[in-house]
Amino acid sequence: MQFRDLGAQYLKLKSEIDDGIQAVVTSGKFISGPQVKELEGELAAYVGRKHCISCANGTDALELVLRAWEIGPGDAVFVPAFTFMSTAEVVALVGATPVFTDICEATFNMDAVSLENAIAKTLSEGKLKPRAIIPVDLFGQPADYDKILPIAEKFGLKVLEDGAQGFGGDVRGKLACSFGDASTTSFFPAKPLGCYGDGGAIFTDDDSVAALIRSFCVHGKGSEKYENVRIGRNSRLDTLQAAILLPKLRAFRDFELDAVNQAASWYTEKLADSRLVTPSVLPGFRSSWAQYSVLCVDEEQRNALQAKLKAQGIPAMVYYPRPLHLQKAFAGLGYALGDLPVAESVCHRVLALPMHPYLDQATIDQIVATIKA
Ligand SMILES: *Cc1c(COP(=O)(O)O)cnc(C)c1O
Repeated sequence: MQFRDLGAQYLKLKSEIDDGIQAVVTSGKFISGPQVKELEGELAAYVGRKHCISCANGTDALELVLRAWEIGPGDAVFVPAFTFMSTAEVVALVGATPVFTDICEATFNMDAVSLENAIAKTLSEGKLKPRAIIPVDLFGQPADYDKILPIAEKFGLKVLEDGAQGFGGDVRGKLACSFGDASTTSFFPAKPLGCYGDGGAIFTDDDSVAALIRSFCVHGKGSEKYENVRIGRNSRLDTLQAAILLPKLRAFRDFELDAVNQAASWYTEKLADSRLVTPSVLPGFRSSWAQYSVLCVDEEQRNALQAKLKAQGIPAMVYYPRPLHLQKAFAGLGYALGDLPVAESVCHRVLALPMHPYLDQATIDQIVATIKA
């Protein structure tokens, strides 16, 4: 059994994906071919943003936005402690300081009360200037923008939505990657919309930020080729990856998103009388189910369950075993065990079950039966 069955998806979309790859190889336009522009147009229209700028990966996407906003040394950027490394790494990469917030146990997403407290504490200490918030749409569910956006407004902070896992989710019909001042996603193969390698994208309605990021992505280019007006980098999505993403985006939109929500409902229904806490989605919110993560009673039960499932050939993964404020890479920030108790507790109890749009009811029955046994 696969944790995320990319092979089943390829079999379904094989002829379109193969044709797309062949067309790029035949054209020889491996960099910035027409498929890249076509994909950017479709992505922007789908999420409902004016601009989409594709780039090399989801980590670059986040960093490029912070650079465009001129966030750097002396600035504080608020990030949840329970997320993938990139969300906080990019803050440090631009020279700013990540300030960690706790999460809500029910949604795994940034806790608005903890956020407001962290902003107030940073202001009262007076060492760092609060500049931005990076809410993460963890495991596919959009962060609680109803609560976070008013806090950003109150303190005059920018909001950068990390939609690497949230692509396709929505809040009352407003799609992930359309919240805040800018948003990003990742096309890493296992994400809700994945390519066959690395890739990422930035979304914004701001014309000048979009133009600046387009320049950053191609060595700080000006209006002509070989005119460099600033220091940039090389961060582009390969034409091959764009050609693979075009049919995958259509399948995602047309049936995969519904299929993965169906799989989530089956799990939640069948696990209702188990000892596990199943994931909850806020009213009016829709998840794209990057992960289906359950909570166990404690670490011992979680590890035992993971081992039992593994023995039966069922892969289950721990996302994430350690909160970011306790990672060695951030030891210099001075956090200690107990600072963000919900994030710390969840790391010990969380377990992600196999999840993807091609998961059928019989397979879910088998996984649930093994869990209950
Ligand atoms: C995967 C991920 C990223 C980074 O994406 P890459 O394409 O792997 O660089 C950033 N944030 C979150 C929450 C992610 O899950």
